Amino acid sequence: MYAGLDIGGTSMKCMLLDAEKHPIDTASFPTCSIDGMERAVDTISEEIGTMLKNSGGVLCSLGIGCSGPLNIKTGVIENPYTLPGFEGHSLTMALRERLQVPVLLENDANTAHLGEIESMDTPPGNSIMLTFGTGVGCSIRLDGKIFRLPGGVHPEIGHIPVGVDADILCYCGKTACLENVLSGTAINRDAQLRFASSPEEILQAQGSDKEKEKFRKRLVKALTDAVLSLSIIFHPQIIIIGGGIEDLLVEYIIPDLSCLLERLLSTYGKTRLIPARKGSLAGCYGAALMAYTEER
Ligand SMILES: [Zn+2]
Repeated sequence: MYAGLDIGGTSMKCMLLDAEKHPIDTASFPTCSIDGMERAVDTISEEIGTMLKNSGGVLCSLGIGCSGPLNIKTGVIENPYTLPGFEGHSLTMALRERLQVPVLLENDANTAHLGEIESMDTPPGNSIMLTFGTGVGCSIRLDGKIFRLPGGVHPEIGHIPVGVDADILCYCGKTACLENVLSGTAINRDAQLRFASSPEEILQAQGSDKEKEKFRKRLVKALTDAVLSLSIIFHPQIIIIGGGIEDLLVEYIIPDLSCLLERLLSTYGKTRLIPARKGSLAGCYGAALMAYTEER
């Protein structure tokens, strides 16, 4: 059996795969990083133990996807914003000792991307996955391989500039960066600040209300800027849009963008925007696939 674990700020998702890569079981449980790494290792081991007992299998390896910054070599997670309590400890080392199997750590956008690619009939050569939730995550695969910066550093694109107005300064030092405009956190915040309303209510209004339509067009412009920059640099055949606010983007933002891409990118090859298909299970599925692949 191969286990995949997706660690989010509030919950963890776990999936077991059999020797033919078929999902056998999934589980979800609270992260509670504030209780410390030791408690998390106890919980993860217990949950995986229960799943193995129910399936009657033996664990061969474990793959983990987690939001960065993190060190995939040492297994240390350094994310005090969404995972306070985990910083400074090696999660892979602790779980390796406890479970007595190889344990691998990867950025969660990379594991979700792998989960999405694996479920396609024809995997693209170059592809990008963007995840929009609390923040904005990114995974880039070139010639079928994860793209990393020198030293194995994960490319973070959440704070690239976008050409729209923004009222509040981001912790990166800019106002109009992608994450400060288009993350779920930012959209919710701005919807409240500008209209005292929910994003859904504003975006539904579309053409019927001038100010609300301006709000929607601002989000379209931010995603257009980011997608164009990434497309021009990396020439992906597809950009997969996922994360907690995927449905909102797919319904109200992406349709405008697809038409723009048709017109603007003919010299760089065609990039298509597609919604993630595996939903919230892409991360743990991709993490389990990583464990499966590394073992063979
Ligand atoms: Zn920023």
